[in-house]
Amino acid sequence: MRVVLLGPPGAGKGTQAQVIAQRLGVPAISTGDIFRANVSGQTELGEKAKAYMDAGDLVPDEITVAMVKDRLAEPDAKSGFLLDGFPRTIAQAEQLRESLGELGHSLDRVLELVVDEEELVRRLSGRRMLVDGEMIQRDDDKPETVRHRLQVYREQTEPLSGFYESAGQLSRIDAIGEVEEVTARAMTALGADDPGQPSTD
Ligand code: AMP
Repeated sequence: MRVVLLGPPGAGKGTQAQVIAQRLGVPAISTGDIFRANVSGQTELGEKAKAYMDAGDLVPDEITVAMVKDRLAEPDAKSGFLLDGFPRTIAQAEQLRESLGELGHSLDRVLELVVDEEELVRRLSGRRMLVDGEMIQRDDDKPETVRHRLQVYREQTEPLSGFYESAGQLSRIDAIGEVEEVTARAMTALGADDPGQPSTD
């Protein structure tokens, strides 16, 4: 299955991506994680991306698209993937459609995680991640950057919802609730049985 997970920062994409991808048996590919790994590894790609990320801006399409193309060409992504955080602009979505089309493929579904803005700000400002045994706040989760990232989302990424809706590929998922509840809604939208639920026989 080829799936895209769409949704604003703080909607729980990363968490859901891991669980859903595992259930589908496909790799979860997070462009944010790939960029962060490159920043910590001080690679050339990381150097290029860092300033944009710190400011809460999008890394330019040409850099991001080339990186995703390389990742999707790896053997584990040949028969399916779950993309988390890509595409984030209409241009990226068009490029993705084109590269999949060249291989005779297309996306099976786009899941949009829907959370209201008040809840997003609350979640993001309280969010911490574990790095080297310590719980730290991501630089781009600081309140001023959070507001800017949400604005970038509204302006550049939200139009993807209409783009995929008119292609008949979009399912909107209420992403408020327990992680398992949200996962169950997503699995239903994918038409996939939910092996996480206890069996009745
Ligand atoms: P995320 O972890 O998905 O919130 O991504 C963190 C940051 O990485 C974003 O704020 C952007 O600076 C950058 N980034 C991740 N995915 C993309 C993308 N598809 N296009 C452009 N920039 C991206």
